[in-house]
Amino acid sequence: MNNDNLTRRDLSVVWHPCTQMKDHEHLPMTPIRRGEGVWLEDFDGNRYIDAVSSWWVNLFGHANPRINQAIRDQLDRLEHVILAGFTHEPVIRLSEKLVAITPPGLSRCFFADSGSAAVEVALKMSYHYWRNRGQGGKTRFICLTNSYHGETLGALSVGDVPLYKETYKSLLMQSITVQAPDCYLREAGEDCAQLAERMFVHMEQALARHAHETCAVIVEPLVQCAGGMRMYDPRYLSLLREACDRHGMHLIADEIAVGFGRTGTMFACEQAGITPDFLCLSKGLTGGYLPLSAVVTTEGVYQAFYDEYEKLNAFLHSHSYTGNPLACAAALGTLGIFEGEDVIGNNRHLAKVMAEALAPLQDHPNVAEVRQTGMIAAVEMVRDKATREPYPWQERRGLAIYRHALQRGALLRPLGNVSYLMPPYVINEEQIRFLAEVMREGIDVATQDQPPRANRTRRG
Ligand SMILES: *Cc1c(COP(=O)(O)O)cnc(C)c1O
Repeated sequence: MNNDNLTRRDLSVVWHPCTQMKDHEHLPMTPIRRGEGVWLEDFDGNRYIDAVSSWWVNLFGHANPRINQAIRDQLDRLEHVILAGFTHEPVIRLSEKLVAITPPGLSRCFFADSGSAAVEVALKMSYHYWRNRGQGGKTRFICLTNSYHGETLGALSVGDVPLYKETYKSLLMQSITVQAPDCYLREAGEDCAQLAERMFVHMEQALARHAHETCAVIVEPLVQCAGGMRMYDPRYLSLLREACDRHGMHLIADEIAVGFGRTGTMFACEQAGITPDFLCLSKGLTGGYLPLSAVVTTEGVYQAFYDEYEKLNAFLHSHSYTGNPLACAAALGTLGIFEGEDVIGNNRHLAKVMAEALAPLQDHPNVAEVRQTGMIAAVEMVRDKATREPYPWQERRGLAIYRHALQRGALLRPLGNVSYLMPPYVINEEQIRFLAEVMREGIDVATQDQPPRANRTRRG
């Protein structure tokens, strides 16, 4: 088996996610044989540093011995059991741990199998809470511009990235979309906290206008990842928490991408000192091993559903693999690493190395901004540095970076014009500096304008 024959077999039967399959007429497919730590190895023996943590899920490297062992131990005991009427040790232990480590006031864990499913759960629970409390007129949700909460119809309804949403618009719930406090859009002399306060005026207006019909506000705390790693100040979250309480609506914190140490604290909400009504977790929850998600909520929410069966107030929502024991074991293995090592402290050091390694890109003629929150560092490529005019999306400049990185032994998968590093926490300093170098070269290649067509095709 080698890359070529596997690629041929793949392309005749597999339909890949988030992909225009026709691209693979010219774009390489990379079949991976094994992973170890930050490394992925293909069937021709080429190695790649996984700079994007395999779509932001991997925390402690591929084939992590401790997580492997946790899954192996569980595999010999129980692979799966129905979670209605039955329970098992991994789901109990995981729930206890999540309640212990998440912000104070969160005490109940509901499980699902993907991030999108967790968002669906949070939206339905919030609506159902108000219904059970006699406020069935609350049917709407408020979200931020450029937000992303997943691909299922409910999650897509509260998202705002046009690339994913536009096509399906006629199938979706009508959400109320409020201008995000995106710090990329700050004015001269303004800092991110000031911008957050200025932008909160829009949220305050929406809350006042729609409080009677709105169940919840949903946000990605601190970083809008799929929206191009756009970042904002924790001040916005503090203001939002206070205002949601004042206007009588829930706050849903979607920490699916930013939870588990990614932003420099265990959960991003900690940086604002707030507790949401619903905390959505997935991705890093199992260290990047198995699909699992959790919605952690408050005793107040739980009690609104706790009643005689005939009242039909129960949350009758389930997924076949809810609380899968193997996935819970992977999550326990992952949390065990956080308990045994100073992961957050170590990440603080790695984040500094990332900052230093990427800093020179600030001066690149086609870079508008280098920004960072903890273990997420992003570089925004533009056509015009002075006006920040972006490259037209049709030019797909990011693909040149992706291709270049593959040749150099790195998996760097830009989001449009934004390149980023979001590596596993087991990366070392040298590897970070290597990735920064590869990104710089990639940006050079991507921004080097094509010579006129006549020159390229002329022979001799
Ligand atoms: C990835 C992501 C989701 C969706 O999770 P899936 O497991 O891909 O369904 C939701 N919200 C955020 C913030 C995400 O980054």
